Amino acid sequence: MQPATRDPIYLDHSATTPVWPEVVDAMQEFFADSYGNPSSIHAAGRSAYAGLQKARSSIAAHIGAGPSEIIFTGCGTEGNNAALRGISLARRAATGANRIVSTAIEHHAVLETLEDLAELHGFEPVLLPVDGLGRVAPSDLEEALQEPTALVSCMYANNEVGTVQPLAELGEICEAASVPLHTDAVQALTREPVSVDALKVAALSVSAHKFHGPKGVGFLYLRRSTPFRPYMTGGGHEGGRRAGTENVPLIVGMAKALDLCMANAADEATRLQALRDELITNLLEGIEGAHLTGSRQDRLSHHASFVFDGLEAESILIGLDMAGIMASSGSACTSGAHQPSHVLSAMGIDPPASYGAIRFSLGRDTSGTDVEYVVRQMQRITQQLQAAQAFAM
Ligand code: PLP
Repeated sequence: MQPATRDPIYLDHSATTPVWPEVVDAMQEFFADSYGNPSSIHAAGRSAYAGLQKARSSIAAHIGAGPSEIIFTGCGTEGNNAALRGISLARRAATGANRIVSTAIEHHAVLETLEDLAELHGFEPVLLPVDGLGRVAPSDLEEALQEPTALVSCMYANNEVGTVQPLAELGEICEAASVPLHTDAVQALTREPVSVDALKVAALSVSAHKFHGPKGVGFLYLRRSTPFRPYMTGGGHEGGRRAGTENVPLIVGMAKALDLCMANAADEATRLQALRDELITNLLEGIEGAHLTGSRQDRLSHHASFVFDGLEAESILIGLDMAGIMASSGSACTSGAHQPSHVLSAMGIDPPASYGAIRFSLGRDTSGTDVEYVVRQMQRITQQLQAAQAFAM
């Protein structure tokens, strides 16, 4: 095959996104000029503090929160750890409740933390099942909350299959049971509407690199009245909830990226949804043995994920890469690990079917021409692999 001569097509925005030039520009000032420690009282410290607080207010406004309800973190994983550990420990101390209700399809940052909380602190995690499309049933949550519960944690949208949960409905159930709801909104913010009051969430974790901000920064929204035991102890930063000097340049970059994304989030979601649907329809029609994973309706606007009968994701991804297309086999964290996906297993898709899982996640630069090219290449690659398999039999 000829090496690819066209511009590469990046379709792995659920793994990470390119940092936009305006975001780099916004950070530059806080690396070079306003480099003070935001806790210092001199001029350099004050200008860093001003940048930090401006970023805090602007981020808070985008999700309908108050500035003091934003805790800056190092990543989405940290936000999930903070919420699960900080709220569960404080709630158990206050109420005696020992159960944490979550779902079988959470990111490892939640699932591993739940295991740790069980092992280290004796918590009892309860994982709700999902249906074949990756959806949690509100009635299952209602039933689970019949027993005293310290915390509920349910992701807003799934990274592997793109399914969006009925979070506002789950929030209402939690509110009625007086149990705080945490959501991992790492994949959802800028793609789905996020208002902390409408969703009735007590905590929400976010990561900047999923929306064109830098890696290594995120935030946790924590509702004012929510019991919380600080998990990073030290100085009194972040209202005593997360000690450590704030990374002002990255935080400013995250705020800028969020501003840029939110400026036309609805229009961009509509544009991407049309491209996504074209990709889904044409791949399902054009490739024998292709199946969509996750919900067709309740799905992230930029996300299309599939399994291909009898094929391995790795061979498809290599073929795509050679054709200049960057995609992934599901979550960036488990791809390459050669382990069956816990998300697909929970949806009833077990190996060997799950070994052929491919995820395309579109972005700001994705065009209709790109989608047509991807469909053509996918047809060629899968046909070649199917032919090679038939020959080997
Ligand atoms: N939660 C979800 C749903 C994710 O998709 C990811 C990353 O892919 C994370 C958490 C972890 O975020 P971070 O990479 O910022 O630690």
